[in-house]
Amino acid sequence: MDYLLAEEGKSDLGALLKSRSLYAFDFDGTLAKIVRDHQAARLARPIRFWLEKLANRAPTAIISGRSVEDLRSRVGTAVPHLIGNHGSEGPHTRREDMQQVRETSSGWLQLVNERFQDELTRSGVVIENKSYSLSFHYRTADQRDEARALISRIVAELSPPPRIVLGKSVVNVMPPTASHKGTALLEYMRRLDCSTALYVGDDETDEDVFALRDARILTVRIGKKKGSSARYFLKRQAEIAEALRLLVEVGDQSIHTWSGCHEQGVPLPAQHPNE
Ligand SMILES: [Mg+2]
Repeated sequence: MDYLLAEEGKSDLGALLKSRSLYAFDFDGTLAKIVRDHQAARLARPIRFWLEKLANRAPTAIISGRSVEDLRSRVGTAVPHLIGNHGSEGPHTRREDMQQVRETSSGWLQLVNERFQDELTRSGVVIENKSYSLSFHYRTADQRDEARALISRIVAELSPPPRIVLGKSVVNVMPPTASHKGTALLEYMRRLDCSTALYVGDDETDEDVFALRDARILTVRIGKKKGSSARYFLKRQAEIAEALRLLVEVGDQSIHTWSGCHEQGVPLPAQHPNE
């Protein structure tokens, strides 16, 4: 992994500007600082400022573990393409597939509520129902080892067995048929007619994109980490503002940069907020 804001990284960022690229980002820990209260996460002012400018110039997307509705409440209209539930929620997924994923997730939630509610409450684990997946948050649990053991015990009971993605103080469980961040990014590149992409993330779920090892995708991890498949890293989350600023300013210096970026490729159907 190399530092993105050194010479080679900057030059690779600049190369993206020469083709029609999709600029895609994870939300928590990438565009927004990780905060103790999951509900308090928001975009810092400089990040919103540069993100909005970039989104006005080129196809821009957020691919997050949060639901689309939750993302929209935090991002508003700053970014046009919001993809939720680790890549499985958005207009790119088929209605029937989403329905099936939703039914699996709600079946799991029912089992968890019936059998484990008291234990979860006692251990301080908060379960988040994201309609298409469930997340067990243990950031505020006093006994983190016990909380993790309880979550493992619960996850082992779920049927069909979920795809498990560990995050920062969170265990995400997704129906096995749900699409992930990697498949979502590729699908959006196709739909938006982009030949290259940038993807920035900070967590295990983002490895689904990094591990594609697709030469068209410039991958960046927030925080250097051994074993990550990302090509580049940023030292800390706040540096995303600098990367966004560079893209916008370097892009604006050449009149050729954003050509062809304003039309949004193959039109996407309207998002269905109630699905
Ligand atoms: Mg994240």
